[in-house]
Amino acid sequence: MVSFEEARSIILGSVQTVGTERISLLEATGRVLAEDMAAPWDLPLWDNSAMDGYAVRLDDCLTIPCRLRVTGYLPAGAKADGISVEAGCAVRIMTGAPTPVGCNAVVPVEETDDGRQEVTLLEPVKERQHIRFSAEDVASGVVFVRSGTRIRPPEVNMLAGFGMALVPVYRRPVVAILSTGDELVELGRTPGPGEIVNSNTLSLAAAVMEAGCIPRIIGIARDNRESHLEMLREGLKADVLVTSAGVSAGDCDFVRDILEELGAKQMFWKVGIKPGGPTAFAIYGSIPVFSLPGNPVSTMITFEEFVRPALLRMQGYQKVLRPFFKAVMREGLKKKSGKVQIVRLRLEKEGACWYATSSGNQQTAILKTMVDAQAVAVLPAESTGCAAGDEVDVHFYGNHIELE
Ligand code: AMP
Ligand code: MG
Repeated sequence: MVSFEEARSIILGSVQTVGTERISLLEATGRVLAEDMAAPWDLPLWDNSAMDGYAVRLDDCLTIPCRLRVTGYLPAGAKADGISVEAGCAVRIMTGAPTPVGCNAVVPVEETDDGRQEVTLLEPVKERQHIRFSAEDVASGVVFVRSGTRIRPPEVNMLAGFGMALVPVYRRPVVAILSTGDELVELGRTPGPGEIVNSNTLSLAAAVMEAGCIPRIIGIARDNRESHLEMLREGLKADVLVTSAGVSAGDCDFVRDILEELGAKQMFWKVGIKPGGPTAFAIYGSIPVFSLPGNPVSTMITFEEFVRPALLRMQGYQKVLRPFFKAVMREGLKKKSGKVQIVRLRLEKEGACWYATSSGNQQTAILKTMVDAQAVAVLPAESTGCAAGDEVDVHFYGNHIELE
């Protein structure tokens, strides 16, 4: 058995990105940039006005109020060629228009009488005020977004501002999903006696999508060697293979044996985590193979703690773990030492403090308390539990958690 931390480091040490592609900027939203991007020109490209107002020379505005002759007009989109601010004069200018030669301050219209032939300035003027200077945002040649950055609307805005219509991103891994078991029927069929719906496949596919990857549903391997051989072979054609169930020590638990027979190198089997102990990890060529336990709660938790970080790393993310924060337990939790325990929680915030309550029955077979959980506590292996009022390390479970 490997520890929770060893399992993570073996996994993250074994996975790589699966290539890059150039795609349109909008499609790239939510993807991870595969190259450092350097500014092809200065941003802004030229000095321009930050306000609607008057471009002036500071020397003319040393005593307030002062009166200046308005000798020109520069709306946004105009060229400043041939326009200059002469001594004793002002040029009416709109936000975003290039500042004319001679201008070293812009006076907002609200601080003037807004005169069109002559304008009176009513407030003191400071040198350089309300001018956006060329290159003050990003200078030409400077890297403005690094490889490994997730592309969000701000990155889209800057990439677009620099005219980058196609951007290099890491490819999204295709993740094969295979369920195993004679008791499973596909969604759409009502389960009869002894049967259950193959819900893990759907849940895993959803989690794969939420992690930014492409699920490929392989189906169900039945509890015999031939079916496992055929379905696992198919699953090994993807970039990643995730199986559920059939990985313990039961009579029909063929997954690990058949993977080895097919040439996969087993990296570990059994992890010090509860729920989710019988998790196995293997490498087939460069394909990571996760064999997760079949119990839906265990499948989801081991996906969250082991598969998701790997899928993020395979898409080029540098940071792949959800951030931990402290929460105060409203109730005590008992646990045996020896394994990391994942506890399903509800969270509330009071003032600056997070408070956590168990979402209910923590047995592995209880699915509803997973549905009800917003977060999980990760109790360290050596811990024997905690008392009400103790602080525990928690992280959110799910991508879009909104809390009042
Ligand atoms: P196993 O590891 O094959 O013994 O399965 C462990 C438990 O998980 C059993 O109760 C199975 O019925 C259940 N299980 C296995 N596969 C799935 C699945 N695809 N969807 C939902 N439950 C499953
Ligand atoms: Mg089974």
